[in-house]
Amino acid sequence: MGLLNWRSADHYDHGGDCPCTQCGKPTPMRSHAGEPVHKVCAEDWNDRNPNAPRQEHEGRDLGTRRFHSDPPRKTRKDGAR
Ligand SMILES: [Zn+2]
Repeated sequence: MGLLNWRSADHYDHGGDCPCTQCGKPTPMRSHAGEPVHKVCAEDWNDRNPNAPRQEHEGRDLGTRRFHSDPPRKTRKDGAR
């Protein structure tokens, strides 16, 4: 499994650190579901759960449903914040 693309600012919670659900250490990172987790911990979880339900975007595998990459943006016009 490759590395996750969490470039979106949505993955960074400016409200502060919360304990990572995987390693327990504080992290400002959030999954798409708002779960506190380090990116590396999410990638590690994906590696350890190869049979977890997959998240797909236009036929591309983005990772697991729990921890997946940001969908690629086609244009900057829509949804760019
Ligand atoms: Zn962690």
